[in-house]
Amino acid sequence: MPDADHSHHANGSNGSNDKWQFLQPPQSDGGPREQPPLIRPPSRGQFRFSIWFIALAVMVLLLVNSLVGNRQMATTVDYSTFKNLVTDGQIKRVRITDNYYVGLGATEAELSRLREAGSTTTTAVGEWRTVRVEDPGFVALLDDNGVQYFADPQGGRPLLGLILQWVVPLGLMFLVWRLMFKRLGSMGSNVMAFGKSRAQVVAEGETGVRFADVAGADEAKAELEEVVDFLKSPERYVEIGGKIPKGVLLVGAPGTGKTLLARAVAGEASVTFFRLNGADFVEMFVGVGAARVRDLFKQAREKSPCIIFIDELDAIGKSRGVAMTGGNDEREQTLNQLLVEMDGFDARSGVIILGATNRPEVLDAALLRPGRFDRQVLVDKPDLTGREAILKIHSATVKLEPEVDLLEVARATPGFAGADLANLVNEAALLAVRARRKLVSQRDFGEAIDKVVAGLEKRSRVLSPKEKEIVAFHEAGHALVAHHTPGSDPVRKISIVPRGLGALGYTMQTPAEERFLLTEKEILGRIDVLLGGRGAEQVVFGEISTGAANDLDRSTDMAKRMVTDFGMSEKFANMRLPYRQESPLLGHNGHAVNREYSEATQQYIDEETARIIRDRYRRVVDLLRERRDALKAVAARLLEQEVLESDEFSQLAGSPAAVAAG
Ligand code: ADP
Ligand code: ZN
Ligand code: MG
Repeated sequence: MPDADHSHHANGSNGSNDKWQFLQPPQSDGGPREQPPLIRPPSRGQFRFSIWFIALAVMVLLLVNSLVGNRQMATTVDYSTFKNLVTDGQIKRVRITDNYYVGLGATEAELSRLREAGSTTTTAVGEWRTVRVEDPGFVALLDDNGVQYFADPQGGRPLLGLILQWVVPLGLMFLVWRLMFKRLGSMGSNVMAFGKSRAQVVAEGETGVRFADVAGADEAKAELEEVVDFLKSPERYVEIGGKIPKGVLLVGAPGTGKTLLARAVAGEASVTFFRLNGADFVEMFVGVGAARVRDLFKQAREKSPCIIFIDELDAIGKSRGVAMTGGNDEREQTLNQLLVEMDGFDARSGVIILGATNRPEVLDAALLRPGRFDRQVLVDKPDLTGREAILKIHSATVKLEPEVDLLEVARATPGFAGADLANLVNEAALLAVRARRKLVSQRDFGEAIDKVVAGLEKRSRVLSPKEKEIVAFHEAGHALVAHHTPGSDPVRKISIVPRGLGALGYTMQTPAEERFLLTEKEILGRIDVLLGGRGAEQVVFGEISTGAANDLDRSTDMAKRMVTDFGMSEKFANMRLPYRQESPLLGHNGHAVNREYSEATQQYIDEETARIIRDRYRRVVDLLRERRDALKAVAARLLEQEVLESDEFSQLAGSPAAVAAG
């Protein structure tokens, strides 16, 4: 179904899939995309050692036992023979073990004398062994013959017994345990380091990213430069009595360069930098995450001054007690431990915590309290100059035709995040390569924008001729209304090439300048343009389609906000009627607010919204009826060539001056 994307959101890509925090080799690029995550190489040297150590120990013990404990060399004799030897006086001393009697041919005193003389017991005196028999008269027999006797329950092989009874079973258990954890995947490599933090320590400059590699996010950059400066020379701040924040939280949409900024901090600060991902803490065993947090902070305190960077903080920082899945003890404990640790030191200790998230609204409010992440920095999508600067950075390594105008590209890409722009440059370069050209041209950029904006071309998707016609008129309607609405952004391009999901076509307007404010008239103009798609369907076919759903969503929202947020209604002029769920970070009053007005007001809002839409739609339909010829001309050309550029469109659309202002 037709769907106009007037502000062309960069929905093609975002930078949220990067996971560089695992042992990434030093990056010197700041290149277009993050490198894919590397698998953490096993750090189990210590572990291997312990296994081999045990095996070795067992062998050594066995050897020693057989060399020293040479009592096995005793001659085994019958019990009766043994008794005879006792009676004959050949056996002077008997060792009684659990299972054997061992007779020795010398008394203790004689033995020690022999030992002093330098001989070994076995060769010098006889030794006989016999299986123990229940014989009540045996002890009496020994007494009668003056034979010494003593009990040795270990059976004469104390070391071997010890090994067999304890070391071997333990070793086996250990092996089984290890195998088990190996099965559980990555954990196997971490069995010995369960509670150890997985933070990656980054040496200074190792990331190869500098503040100069980050463009656009000036506010965030300034903030972080201050942090770096503090860590480099804390005296200056302490002297003046300035306070440096304990925690800085980078908040922003995916791909806006939060992770990049943190890497730049690592690259610039001459201090230890611990980086890790929020997800690193979360394990399947309760308490492990908390132990890791503890370990991390212990290390950090030893290494201060230093920076701890927790990327994707929302993985652990999700607010507690809202889990629908029966609670998540592990994450809760981890979060609690993090809070405890953050409270446990003061900024002067030289540990600064950096966090990054693109979902500030899910963070636990406790994390944002003073003394924790008390400074929140919005890393916004770049503005025109920011975009141009980012494009410059990323095309520095790309060979461009001299007439390529990056400002022009920046102008055509409002709403693009840094990652989208990096992607865009790459796409443009790929297009040039595909065409076997040596330099990237402005046209490559144009095509790359189309690709990034609406996903890859999907010419393969087949629309019925009727559907295609509807799409063409729908888009022509948007464009024509835009063309004839004073103050509206000029139409840059119309396309009905099916692309990606959802968008069957789009009308792209290029804002003449970056807009931060809209006048009432301009909002109404935007609503008109959004309604233009459906209006055209109505005018041409006399019936409407589902293709305008997204348009209606946005126009309704705008109309409603005119009443509730911008104070542009008659009854509640200059009043704000709060009803939105505000993010605790980005909102003004820190709380989620539902509506703070009466049911009657709600009814007024609904009616007023409906009235605005009704009025505007009427105007749009009138305008298009009047311009039916132009509408047909534009749609016909669209059907013919699928894409219309601004010049051609303007010719077909006629002079905008001919239409009275709405
Ligand atoms: P986030 O962490 O906010 O999702 P990233 O820092 O991972 O975004 O950005 C992804 C990539 O996009 C970066 O590696 C970089 O190449 C590019 N990028 C994003 N923002 C900027 C910027 N402000 N300046 C230069 N490059 C940027
Ligand atoms: Zn539309
Ligand atoms: Mg990131």
